[in-house]
Amino acid sequence: MNIILLGPPGAGKGTQAQILVEERGMIQLSTGDMLRAARSSGTEMGNKVAAIMDAGELVTDEIVIGLIEEKLEGDHGGGFIFDGFPRTLAQADALGDLLEKHGTGLSHVIAMEVNDEALVGRILNRAKEAVAAGGTARADDNEESLKIRLMEYYKKTSPLLGYYHAKGNLSWVPGLGTIDEVTGSIAGVLDS
Ligand code: AMP
Repeated sequence: MNIILLGPPGAGKGTQAQILVEERGMIQLSTGDMLRAARSSGTEMGNKVAAIMDAGELVTDEIVIGLIEEKLEGDHGGGFIFDGFPRTLAQADALGDLLEKHGTGLSHVIAMEVNDEALVGRILNRAKEAVAAGGTARADDNEESLKIRLMEYYKKTSPLLGYYHAKGNLSWVPGLGTIDEVTGSIAGVLDS
């Protein structure tokens, strides 16, 4: 079973993806994590995307589609969770084509519903907690980048809600409950 977790930054996609990995043996494909890994290992692509990511803008479709294409060559295991991908209609079309090429498709697109005020609070908290734990906050977890990330979401990613609704595999879950409540709502969709 392959699924997409769709929602604005700070909706909790990564947290829920990790739980699905642990509980269901699925494979998490987070383009954000892949891009951060490319940056920290200093690849040419990593250096190219660094400033774009820090500003909160989207990197090119070509780069992220290439990253996903590579991963789909690997083991399918318990299915893929697409986390933070696709973020544009072009990426969504490309994902559909790639999955079809591999003889598979999408079972569910889970849209996580949250409000913007909660998002800003959550992300700024995430930054504070990271620093309090002795680490460093993500460079894009600040108010200025967050505004741009939200605008990118509404301009370029939110049209995917209509796209997948029309395809017939979109389900909404409330994203504002406790982690367990959200996990339960997602399980309700996956096990229906
Ligand atoms: P995330 O960890 O999903 O919040 O992604 C962090 C940043 O990586 C985003 O703000 C974008 O700059 C970039 N990024 C991640 N996934 C994508 C994608 N599918 N398309 C374009 N840019 C992406």
